[in-house]
Amino acid sequence: MNQIIRSGLLWTGEEFVPKAALVISKGKVLATTLSLSEGETDLGQDSVILPGLVNAHVHLDLSFARIPATNNFILWIEKILEHRLELSPKVTREAIRFGIKESIHSGVTSLGDISPNGASWEVLEEFGLKGTVYWECLGLTPERVESTLCQWEEWLIHHEPTKSVQPGISPHAPFTTSRKIFEYAAHSGLPVSTHLGETMEEMRFLSQRDGPIEKMLQGKGIDPALCPFQSVEEVVQVLSKVQRLGLIHTNYGEIDPPQGLGQFRVHCPGTHSFFSREQHPFDHPQFDPEGWVLATDGRSSNADLNLWSQVKKVAKERPNISPDALLRMVTINPAMMMGMGNRIGKLVPEMAADFVIGRFPQSPGNEQIIAKKIFDGIDEFESVWVDGEAKKSAS
Ligand SMILES: [Zn+2]
Repeated sequence: MNQIIRSGLLWTGEEFVPKAALVISKGKVLATTLSLSEGETDLGQDSVILPGLVNAHVHLDLSFARIPATNNFILWIEKILEHRLELSPKVTREAIRFGIKESIHSGVTSLGDISPNGASWEVLEEFGLKGTVYWECLGLTPERVESTLCQWEEWLIHHEPTKSVQPGISPHAPFTTSRKIFEYAAHSGLPVSTHLGETMEEMRFLSQRDGPIEKMLQGKGIDPALCPFQSVEEVVQVLSKVQRLGLIHTNYGEIDPPQGLGQFRVHCPGTHSFFSREQHPFDHPQFDPEGWVLATDGRSSNADLNLWSQVKKVAKERPNISPDALLRMVTINPAMMMGMGNRIGKLVPEMAADFVIGRFPQSPGNEQIIAKKIFDGIDEFESVWVDGEAKKSAS
Protein backbone atom coordinates (compact mmCIF):
# COMPACT_ATOMS: atom_id res chain seq x y z
CA MET A 1 0.00 0.00 0.00
CA ASN A 2 1.21 3.47 -0.83
CA GLN A 3 1.73 5.98 1.93
CA ILE A 4 0.40 9.48 1.17
CA ILE A 5 1.37 12.48 3.32
CA ARG A 6 0.03 15.97 2.60
CA SER A 7 1.57 19.16 3.99
CA GLY A 8 0.89 22.90 3.89
CA LEU A 9 4.07 23.35 1.84
CA LEU A 10 6.29 20.82 0.10
CA TRP A 11 9.74 21.61 -1.27
CA THR A 12 10.65 18.95 -3.81
CA GLY A 13 14.19 20.21 -4.30
CA GLU A 14 13.02 21.84 -7.53
CA GLU A 15 10.01 23.91 -6.46
CA PHE A 16 7.81 24.89 -3.54
CA VAL A 17 4.34 23.41 -3.91
CA PRO A 18 1.55 24.46 -1.53
CA LYS A 19 -0.82 21.76 -0.26
CA ALA A 20 0.96 18.95 -2.09
CA ALA A 21 1.12 15.32 -1.04
CA LEU A 22 4.09 13.01 -1.14
CA VAL A 23 3.25 9.54 -2.42
CA ILE A 24 5.64 6.88 -1.10
CA SER A 25 5.95 3.32 -2.30
CA LYS A 26 8.48 0.75 -1.06
CA GLY A 27 10.67 3.41 0.57
CA LYS A 28 10.86 5.57 -2.55
CA VAL A 29 9.04 8.65 -3.82
CA LEU A 30 6.42 7.53 -6.33
CA ALA A 31 4.99 10.99 -7.03
CA THR A 32 4.03 14.36 -5.61
CA THR A 33 0.41 15.26 -6.20
CA LEU A 34 -2.21 17.93 -5.57
CA SER A 35 -5.20 15.62 -6.00
CA LEU A 36 -6.81 14.18 -2.89
CA SER A 37 -6.61 10.46 -2.24
CA GLU A 38 -8.40 8.16 0.14
CA GLY A 39 -6.42 7.19 3.21
CA GLU A 40 -3.96 10.07 3.00
CA THR A 41 -2.54 11.71 6.11
CA ASP A 42 -3.05 15.47 6.12
CA LEU A 43 -0.50 17.19 8.36
CA GLY A 44 -2.33 20.52 8.19
CA GLN A 45 -1.72 24.02 6.91
CA ASP A 46 1.19 24.78 9.26
CA SER A 47 3.33 21.83 8.11
CA VAL A 48 6.32 21.72 5.75
CA ILE A 49 8.00 18.74 4.10
CA LEU A 50 11.60 19.04 2.93
CA PRO A 51 14.05 16.42 1.64
CA GLY A 52 16.17 14.94 4.46
CA LEU A 53 19.26 17.07 5.08
CA VAL A 54 22.62 15.88 3.80
CA ASN A 55 25.65 16.75 5.95
CA ALA A 56 28.60 16.11 3.64
CA HIS A 57 31.41 17.03 6.01
CA VAL A 58 31.65 15.54 9.49
CA HIS A 59 34.27 13.79 11.61
CA LEU A 60 32.01 11.43 13.55
CA ASP A 61 34.89 9.81 15.46
CA LEU A 62 35.56 13.18 17.13
CA SER A 63 32.04 13.53 18.53
CA PHE A 64 33.36 13.28 22.13
CA ALA A 65 36.09 15.89 21.65
CA ARG A 66 35.62 18.92 23.89
CA ILE A 67 38.04 21.60 22.77
CA PRO A 68 37.44 25.27 23.63
CA ALA A 69 37.19 27.73 20.71
CA THR A 70 40.58 29.11 19.73
CA ASN A 71 42.33 30.96 16.96
CA ASN A 72 45.43 28.81 17.42
CA PHE A 73 45.05 26.19 14.69
CA ILE A 74 48.29 24.33 15.54
CA LEU A 75 47.41 24.01 19.23
CA TRP A 76 44.01 22.69 18.13
CA ILE A 77 45.66 20.03 15.90
CA GLU A 78 47.84 18.94 18.84
CA LYS A 79 44.71 18.58 21.00
CA ILE A 80 42.99 16.49 18.32
CA LEU A 81 46.02 14.19 18.10
CA GLU A 82 46.04 13.79 21.92
CA HIS A 83 42.30 13.11 21.94
CA ARG A 84 42.60 10.45 19.21
CA LEU A 85 45.33 8.66 21.16
CA GLU A 86 42.93 8.31 24.10
CA LEU A 87 40.16 6.77 21.98
CA SER A 88 39.81 2.99 22.10
CA PRO A 89 37.99 1.33 19.17
CA LYS A 90 35.00 0.82 21.49
CA VAL A 91 34.82 4.49 22.54
CA THR A 92 35.33 5.57 18.90
CA ARG A 93 32.30 3.52 17.95
CA GLU A 94 30.28 5.12 20.77
CA ALA A 95 31.36 8.58 19.57
CA ILE A 96 30.23 7.74 16.03
CA ARG A 97 26.88 6.48 17.36
CA PHE A 98 26.44 9.65 19.40
CA GLY A 99 27.18 11.77 16.31
CA ILE A 100 24.74 9.85 14.15
CA LYS A 101 21.94 10.11 16.73
CA GLU A 102 22.50 13.85 17.03
CA SER A 103 22.49 14.17 13.24
CA ILE A 104 19.16 12.33 12.87
CA HIS A 105 17.65 14.49 15.61
CA SER A 106 18.48 17.64 13.62
CA GLY A 107 16.98 16.29 10.36
CA VAL A 108 20.07 14.76 8.72
CA THR A 109 19.38 11.56 6.79
CA SER A 110 22.73 11.21 4.95
CA LEU A 111 26.29 11.88 6.02
CA GLY A 112 29.70 12.36 4.41
CA ASP A 113 32.09 11.26 7.12
CA ILE A 114 35.87 11.65 7.05
CA SER A 115 36.83 8.49 8.84
CA PRO A 116 40.19 7.20 10.07
CA ASN A 117 40.16 3.48 9.15
CA GLY A 118 36.62 3.78 7.77
CA ALA A 119 35.18 3.05 11.23
CA SER A 120 31.83 4.75 10.56
CA TRP A 121 30.75 2.38 7.75
CA GLU A 122 29.25 -0.31 9.96
CA VAL A 123 27.62 2.23 12.30
CA LEU A 124 25.88 4.02 9.40
CA GLU A 125 24.54 0.63 8.30
CA GLU A 126 23.44 -0.16 11.86
CA PHE A 127 21.31 3.04 11.88
CA GLY A 128 20.06 2.52 8.32
CA LEU A 129 21.44 5.90 7.26
CA LYS A 130 22.95 6.69 3.88
CA GLY A 131 26.36 8.16 3.33
CA THR A 132 29.82 8.28 1.89
CA VAL A 133 32.64 7.14 4.14
CA TYR A 134 35.73 9.09 3.10
CA TRP A 135 38.72 7.06 4.21
CA GLU A 136 41.13 9.57 5.73
CA CYS A 137 44.59 9.34 4.16
CA LEU A 138 47.65 11.26 5.27
CA GLY A 139 51.40 10.91 5.16
CA LEU A 140 54.43 12.73 3.81
CA THR A 141 57.28 10.25 4.29
CA PRO A 142 57.55 7.51 1.62
CA GLU A 143 57.11 4.75 4.26
CA ARG A 144 53.97 6.33 5.69
CA VAL A 145 52.54 6.91 2.20
CA GLU A 146 53.10 3.26 1.22
CA SER A 147 51.56 1.85 4.40
CA THR A 148 48.55 4.23 4.22
CA LEU A 149 47.81 3.28 0.61
CA CYS A 150 48.17 -0.44 1.40
CA GLN A 151 45.72 -0.19 4.30
CA TRP A 152 43.34 1.81 2.13
CA GLU A 153 43.36 -0.81 -0.65
CA GLU A 154 42.80 -3.58 1.87
CA TRP A 155 39.81 -1.70 3.36
CA LEU A 156 38.35 -0.99 -0.07
CA ILE A 157 38.33 -4.69 -1.01
CA HIS A 158 36.03 -5.37 1.94
CA HIS A 159 33.77 -2.35 1.47
CA GLU A 160 31.90 -2.59 -1.81
CA PRO A 161 29.27 0.14 -2.30
CA THR A 162 25.84 -0.90 -1.01
CA LYS A 163 22.39 0.59 -1.60
CA SER A 164 23.09 3.04 1.25
CA VAL A 165 26.78 3.38 1.99
CA GLN A 166 29.68 3.89 -0.39
CA PRO A 167 33.42 4.46 -0.08
CA GLY A 168 35.23 7.71 -0.75
CA ILE A 169 38.74 8.96 -0.05
CA SER A 170 40.00 12.04 1.77
CA PRO A 171 43.60 13.16 1.42
CA HIS A 172 43.73 15.19 4.65
CA ALA A 173 45.35 18.50 3.59
CA PRO A 174 48.26 19.67 1.41
CA PHE A 175 50.58 20.19 4.41
CA THR A 176 50.14 16.65 5.76
CA THR A 177 49.66 14.57 2.63
CA SER A 178 51.91 13.63 -0.27
CA ARG A 179 51.20 14.39 -3.92
CA LYS A 180 51.15 10.64 -4.54
CA ILE A 181 48.11 10.25 -2.24
CA PHE A 182 46.33 13.19 -3.90
CA GLU A 183 47.02 11.71 -7.35
CA TYR A 184 45.93 8.29 -6.19
CA ALA A 185 42.66 9.81 -4.91
CA ALA A 186 42.18 11.75 -8.16
CA HIS A 187 42.42 8.55 -10.22
CA SER A 188 40.44 6.32 -7.86
CA GLY A 189 37.08 7.12 -9.50
CA LEU A 190 35.64 7.58 -5.99
CA PRO A 191 34.22 10.69 -4.31
CA VAL A 192 37.08 12.81 -2.93
CA SER A 193 37.14 15.49 -0.28
CA THR A 194 40.03 17.44 1.20
CA HIS A 195 40.68 20.38 3.56
CA LEU A 196 42.12 23.28 1.59
CA GLY A 197 43.08 26.90 2.19
CA GLU A 198 41.73 26.73 5.73
CA THR A 199 44.23 29.00 7.49
CA MET A 200 46.73 31.77 6.86
CA GLU A 201 49.33 29.44 8.44
CA GLU A 202 48.69 26.93 5.65
CA MET A 203 49.04 29.63 2.97
CA ARG A 204 52.30 30.80 4.52
CA PHE A 205 53.69 27.29 4.80
CA LEU A 206 52.83 26.38 1.21
CA SER A 207 54.37 29.51 -0.31
CA GLN A 208 57.34 30.08 2.05
CA ARG A 209 57.89 26.80 3.94
CA ASP A 210 57.99 28.55 7.30
CA GLY A 211 55.76 29.56 10.20
CA PRO A 212 53.88 27.43 12.75
CA ILE A 213 53.15 24.51 10.37
CA GLU A 214 56.85 24.20 9.49
CA LYS A 215 57.66 24.16 13.23
CA MET A 216 54.97 21.55 13.89
CA LEU A 217 56.32 19.20 11.20
CA GLN A 218 59.91 19.69 12.42
CA GLY A 219 58.72 18.89 15.95
CA LYS A 220 57.37 15.57 14.71
CA GLY A 221 60.62 14.77 12.93
CA ILE A 222 59.07 15.27 9.47
CA ASP A 223 61.09 17.12 6.84
CA PRO A 224 58.88 20.05 5.64
CA ALA A 225 60.58 19.75 2.23
CA LEU A 226 58.57 16.54 1.73
CA CYS A 227 55.45 18.67 1.28
CA PRO A 228 54.99 18.74 -2.50
CA PHE A 229 52.71 21.76 -2.99
CA GLN A 230 53.56 25.46 -3.31
CA SER A 231 49.96 26.72 -3.43
CA VAL A 232 46.34 25.67 -3.00
CA GLU A 233 45.85 26.19 -6.75
CA GLU A 234 48.28 23.31 -7.42
CA VAL A 235 46.13 21.00 -5.32
CA VAL A 236 43.01 22.07 -7.21
CA GLN A 237 44.88 21.30 -10.44
CA VAL A 238 45.63 17.72 -9.33
CA LEU A 239 41.96 17.23 -8.40
CA SER A 240 40.45 19.10 -11.36
CA LYS A 241 39.15 15.98 -13.15
CA VAL A 242 37.53 14.42 -10.06
CA GLN A 243 33.83 14.11 -10.79
CA ARG A 244 32.56 14.13 -7.19
CA LEU A 245 34.69 16.56 -5.27
CA GLY A 246 34.42 18.51 -2.02
CA LEU A 247 36.96 21.25 -1.28
CA ILE A 248 36.52 21.97 2.42
CA HIS A 249 36.79 25.49 3.94
CA THR A 250 38.76 27.30 1.15
CA ASN A 251 38.76 30.51 3.21
CA TYR A 252 42.05 31.62 1.70
CA GLY A 253 43.61 31.44 -1.76
CA GLU A 254 42.19 32.38 -5.12
CA ILE A 255 40.26 29.23 -5.88
CA ASP A 256 38.06 29.45 -8.97
CA PRO A 257 34.53 28.11 -8.68
CA PRO A 258 34.72 24.35 -9.40
CA GLN A 259 33.64 23.57 -12.96
CA GLY A 260 32.27 20.02 -12.80
CA LEU A 261 28.66 19.16 -11.97
CA GLY A 262 29.66 17.19 -8.86
CA GLN A 263 32.37 19.60 -7.68
CA PHE A 264 31.60 21.80 -4.67
CA ARG A 265 33.24 23.92 -2.03
CA VAL A 266 32.17 23.27 1.54
CA HIS A 267 31.56 25.95 4.15
CA CYS A 268 31.22 25.03 7.83
CA PRO A 269 29.79 28.10 9.63
CA GLY A 270 30.45 26.65 13.11
CA THR A 271 34.13 25.99 12.41
CA HIS A 272 34.48 29.41 10.83
CA SER A 273 33.29 31.05 14.07
CA PHE A 274 35.20 28.58 16.28
CA PHE A 275 38.52 29.81 14.83
CA SER A 276 37.36 33.46 14.41
CA ARG A 277 38.41 33.40 10.74
CA GLU A 278 38.99 36.84 9.30
CA GLN A 279 38.11 36.07 5.72
CA HIS A 280 34.72 34.70 4.61
CA PRO A 281 34.57 32.89 1.27
CA PHE A 282 30.96 34.06 0.71
CA ASP A 283 32.20 37.67 0.58
CA HIS A 284 34.03 36.95 -2.67
CA PRO A 285 32.57 39.02 -5.56
CA GLN A 286 32.12 35.83 -7.62
CA PHE A 287 30.32 33.96 -4.84
CA ASP A 288 27.59 31.72 -6.24
CA PRO A 289 25.63 29.52 -3.79
CA GLU A 290 25.12 26.90 -6.52
CA GLY A 291 28.77 25.85 -6.13
CA TRP A 292 28.57 25.52 -2.36
CA VAL A 293 27.64 23.02 0.32
CA LEU A 294 26.97 23.84 3.98
CA ALA A 295 28.12 21.35 6.60
CA THR A 296 28.77 21.16 10.34
CA ASP A 297 32.31 19.74 10.39
CA GLY A 298 33.08 17.63 13.49
CA ARG A 299 32.24 18.34 17.11
CA SER A 300 35.94 19.07 17.56
CA SER A 301 35.37 22.54 16.05
CA ASN A 302 31.62 23.01 16.43
CA ALA A 303 29.27 22.88 19.41
CA ASP A 304 27.09 20.20 17.82
CA LEU A 305 26.19 18.43 14.58
CA ASN A 306 22.92 20.30 14.12
CA LEU A 307 22.99 21.17 10.40
CA TRP A 308 19.63 22.92 10.51
CA SER A 309 20.87 25.44 13.10
CA GLN A 310 23.78 26.24 10.74
CA VAL A 311 21.35 26.86 7.87
CA LYS A 312 19.26 29.13 10.10
CA LYS A 313 22.40 31.09 11.00
CA VAL A 314 23.39 31.59 7.34
CA ALA A 315 19.80 32.54 6.39
CA LYS A 316 19.92 35.30 9.00
CA GLU A 317 23.41 36.54 8.10
CA ARG A 318 23.04 36.31 4.30
CA PRO A 319 19.47 37.38 3.44
CA ASN A 320 20.44 37.74 -0.22
CA ILE A 321 20.74 33.96 -0.67
CA SER A 322 17.34 32.69 -1.84
CA PRO A 323 15.55 30.03 0.24
CA ASP A 324 15.84 27.51 -2.61
CA ALA A 325 19.58 28.07 -2.98
CA LEU A 326 20.08 27.78 0.78
CA LEU A 327 18.13 24.54 0.93
CA ARG A 328 20.05 23.12 -2.04
CA MET A 329 23.27 23.74 -0.08
CA VAL A 330 22.16 21.13 2.47
CA THR A 331 20.29 18.70 0.18
CA ILE A 332 20.99 18.13 -3.51
CA ASN A 333 24.40 19.91 -3.66
CA PRO A 334 25.99 17.73 -0.95
CA ALA A 335 24.21 14.67 -2.41
CA MET A 336 25.90 15.36 -5.77
CA MET A 337 29.23 16.07 -4.10
CA MET A 338 29.06 12.63 -2.45
CA GLY A 339 28.02 10.93 -5.69
CA MET A 340 24.50 10.18 -4.43
CA GLY A 341 22.55 12.79 -6.39
CA ASN A 342 20.55 10.09 -8.18
CA ARG A 343 19.20 8.73 -4.87
CA ILE A 344 18.91 11.51 -2.30
CA GLY A 345 18.59 15.28 -1.97
CA LYS A 346 15.26 15.73 -3.79
CA LEU A 347 11.71 14.47 -3.42
CA VAL A 348 11.00 13.50 -7.00
CA PRO A 349 10.02 10.07 -8.41
CA GLU A 350 12.55 7.26 -7.88
CA MET A 351 14.44 9.11 -5.12
CA ALA A 352 14.60 7.65 -1.61
CA ALA A 353 11.71 8.74 0.61
CA ASP A 354 14.09 10.56 2.98
CA PHE A 355 12.38 13.66 4.34
CA VAL A 356 11.73 15.87 7.34
CA ILE A 357 8.54 17.45 8.64
CA GLY A 358 8.55 20.83 10.37
CA ARG A 359 5.86 23.25 11.49
CA PHE A 360 5.36 26.99 11.59
CA PRO A 361 2.31 29.23 11.15
CA GLN A 362 1.75 29.95 7.43
CA SER A 363 -0.71 32.50 6.18
CA PRO A 364 -1.86 31.81 2.61
CA GLY A 365 0.10 33.74 0.00
CA ASN A 366 3.08 33.68 -2.29
CA GLU A 367 5.05 30.49 -1.56
CA GLN A 368 8.42 32.27 -1.98
CA ILE A 369 7.48 34.65 0.82
CA ILE A 370 6.36 31.73 2.98
CA ALA A 371 9.55 29.86 2.06
CA LYS A 372 11.71 32.71 3.39
CA LYS A 373 10.07 32.18 6.78
CA ILE A 374 10.98 28.48 6.98
CA PHE A 375 14.37 29.19 8.53
CA ASP A 376 13.04 31.51 11.19
CA GLY A 377 9.89 29.48 11.73
CA ILE A 378 11.28 25.99 12.26
CA ASP A 379 13.62 25.44 15.21
CA GLU A 380 13.47 21.67 15.13
CA PHE A 381 11.91 19.07 12.84
CA GLU A 382 9.08 17.12 14.45
CA SER A 383 9.85 13.97 12.50
CA VAL A 384 12.62 12.56 10.33
CA TRP A 385 12.06 9.81 7.76
CA VAL A 386 14.45 7.49 5.95
CA ASP A 387 13.23 5.18 3.17
CA GLY A 388 9.65 5.99 4.19
CA GLU A 389 10.19 4.99 7.84
CA ALA A 390 10.24 7.36 10.81
CA LYS A 391 13.67 7.61 12.48
CA LYS A 392 12.38 10.35 14.75
CA SER A 393 8.66 10.67 15.47
CA ALA A 394 6.41 13.55 16.43
CA SER A 395 5.90 13.36 20.19
ZN1 LIG B 1 37.16 18.64 8.53
